[in-house]
Parts: sequence; structure tokens; C-alpha cells
Amino acid sequence: MTGHADARSLFEGLTGAQPAGTWSAPGRVNLIGEHTDYNDGFVLPFAIQHRTHVAAALREDGIIRVASTFDAAAVEVAVADLDTIFPERRDEIVEWARYPLGVAWAALAAAGRDAASVPGADLAFASDVPVGAGLSSSAAIEGAAAAALDELWDLDLDAVTRARVGRTAENEAVGAPTGIMDQMASNLGRADAAIFLDCRSLEAQVVDLGFAAAGLELLVMDTGVKHSHSTGGYRERREACERGAAIMGVPALRDVTVADLPRAQELMDDVTFRRVRHIVTENQRVLDTIAVLHDQGPGAIGGLLVASHVSMRDDFEISVPELDTAVEAALAAGAVGARMTGGGFGGAAIALVAHDRVDHVADAVAAAFAAAGFAPPTQFTVHPSDGARRD
Ligand code: ADP
Ligand code: MG
Repeated sequence: MTGHADARSLFEGLTGAQPAGTWSAPGRVNLIGEHTDYNDGFVLPFAIQHRTHVAAALREDGIIRVASTFDAAAVEVAVADLDTIFPERRDEIVEWARYPLGVAWAALAAAGRDAASVPGADLAFASDVPVGAGLSSSAAIEGAAAAALDELWDLDLDAVTRARVGRTAENEAVGAPTGIMDQMASNLGRADAAIFLDCRSLEAQVVDLGFAAAGLELLVMDTGVKHSHSTGGYRERREACERGAAIMGVPALRDVTVADLPRAQELMDDVTFRRVRHIVTENQRVLDTIAVLHDQGPGAIGGLLVASHVSMRDDFEISVPELDTAVEAALAAGAVGARMTGGGFGGAAIALVAHDRVDHVADAVAAAFAAAGFAPPTQFTVHPSDGARRD
């Protein structure tokens, strides 16, 4: 685990001392259920083997200092000032540092603890989760920070609470209006399984995937096209969903079913309707995926993955040509199923592929990118892995 060693050496360079320990949390990939989280709906992500590690220790002067291999400069603030910095003065903190410092702020609040009751801390992060590729490097850094501070500060937060802390940090300390899926996957993940999450009740259920037994692998095809959650398209989709729910007279699109769609179409403009139709059918596809996994195994979920992609491309309109090319090339080369994953407007697509076809599919995708004049994609396989923990 290089991330682990890199975090330790960053810590030692920063402090001249050994850390009290290292903790880590994984990125995640979402198998199916996209943009359903903030509609109180269903998602089916799994934690991946790529992790963000943090080497950390207490310090006695009430200062919390964060450092990352991403950025040469460490950032330090007094724990006592976190409450005045977040959320109003968050712009004074460089963006990446708002994630771990926001976690410190939100973790104290969740534990009902006063800043004066905890000492300071040094946290040094190193990660092998690709940033902005739809694999949630943000949840990984939040989960690692929460795991470390939970133990160092003796906060006694359970995994679901640590996931909520991560989301609070991301929403209020960073300013990105994202749902809670990423943090739940990163905190609750299990080897060989996905997390079925009901985003309304926050009830989570471990769902066996059985990829290995079926001889299947999940290939990630990172287009390299950068998205940003803090800007335009994501906000516009959320607003369309809120508008759709209001028109239907329900608290969230979770409460609209496939049978309600004809009425929805009569009540709203075409764009709003298509945004609504994506969410409603996507929720149903998540439930169908779980049923198919249980009854027939992972080799039979390909059609649902493809239908999810088509819905995001045509109804939610969050795909880009690179993502469509990756999906089409993977399917043409024999993938069981494929879809874009993550928030959209860039990032990565995934393909479920028989073990002995992975190289063939990856080569076909690379060739299709070259033929289209796109920059080469970065491709790798991911395995369902354990959630946040002390290393
Ligand atoms: P993603 O899809 O990877 O989660 P986000 O835009 O949500 O993309 O989050 C990426 C941001 O998270 C980075 O731009 C950076 O600010 C922060 N981040 C993630 N991992 C690290 C890390 N190891 N060190 C410092 N900052 C990180
Ligand atoms: Mg993120």
C-alpha cells in the first residue's frame, strides 16, 4: 500500500515525529442509481480498493494542521476557530483543506463536543483515488479524516454518523451540494459486496455482488474530462428535480412511480418531465438490479446498466461524447453491460466484463478514443472493498 507509506512520510516530514497511527477510507464506484440520492431514492455503490490514507497524531497547542501530497503547503487553524470559519468564512481556506477541516468542524458538532474539549491534531493525507473521475476522492478524504479524528478525539461516532459528518463538510464547509451516497459507501463498504442505500431512511443493506464467482470484473474507463460539482449543470438538475416533485405534490421524486409518469408528462414541460423520468425509472432499475443479482446473478444485470446509461444520456442529459464512446465501444467489444457513473459531465464510465475479456474491451475503448480524436482514457479494474478503518 503506497498511499499508507506516503502518508507516513509526509507526516514525518511535517512534524519530525511518528504518527499515532494511520487510517484510510476508500473511493467508491456507483454500480447503478445516479442522481437518485438527493431525490430520497435508491443507490447501489461499492467501495473500491483505491484509498485515501491519513497519518495523524494529537498535538497539545489546540491547532489542527492538514497536509496533503496534493499540495505543497500545509494549512493550519485553531480548533477553537473552526466554528467561526465554517460556513461563513470558508472562502478564506484553500479548497482542498476545507474537506478535512470541515470534517473536524462537523465531527465535533455531531459528537456534541466543544472545541475546548479536544486537543489539536496533525493530519497528513496521501491518496491513490483519482480526483474528479467520479470515484469520490472527496468522500475518501472525508472518511479518512473522520476515522482518524473519531479515534484521536475519542468522539465515538458510528459509521453512519461519520458519513453524515462527511456530507455536512462537503455541503457546508466546501460548498458542494452533494447527496450522502459517496460517504455511506466509503464508510460502510464491504469486500465483495455493494451497499444498497435508501437515501430517505438512510437504511443501508449489504448486497452480495458475486462478481468473482461469476468470473466478472468491473472496468473503469476514466475519460479524463473534468467535472465540477460546485458549478452549473449539477445545480440545474437538482432544481429540475425539486420543481418536478413540487408539481407532482410530493416531498421528493422518490414518491413518484413509473405508473405516475403519464400524469407527470401532462403536468410539466418536456425538459422537467425528462429529468423526472430519469429519476423515477432509475430508482426502479436499482430495485430491479438487486432482484436480478439475487435471482440470476451479476451476469444478468447488463441490460439494466445499459438502460441507465441511455436514460442519463437522453433524459437527464449529463453525458458527454467521451462517455458515450466508452460505453458503446465496451458493449461492442463484448462487455456484459456498461454505463457512465458519477455525477456526469465528464468523469468515468464502467463496464461489467468477463475476466478474460478485460484486455480486449480496454483495447477496443482505447482504439475508439483514438479514432474519435479524444485524449487516451485511463482504464483499470476495481474490486468491492472494505470501508473506512484504522490501517
Ligand atoms: P471526486 O469525484 O473525486 O470526489 P470532487 O470534486 O467531489 O471529485 O472532489 C475532489 C476534491 O477533493 C479535490 O479537488 C480536492 O479539493 C479534494 N481532495 C480529494 N482527495 C484529496 C487529497 N488526497 N488531498 C487533498 N485534497 C483532496
Ligand atoms: Mg466528490
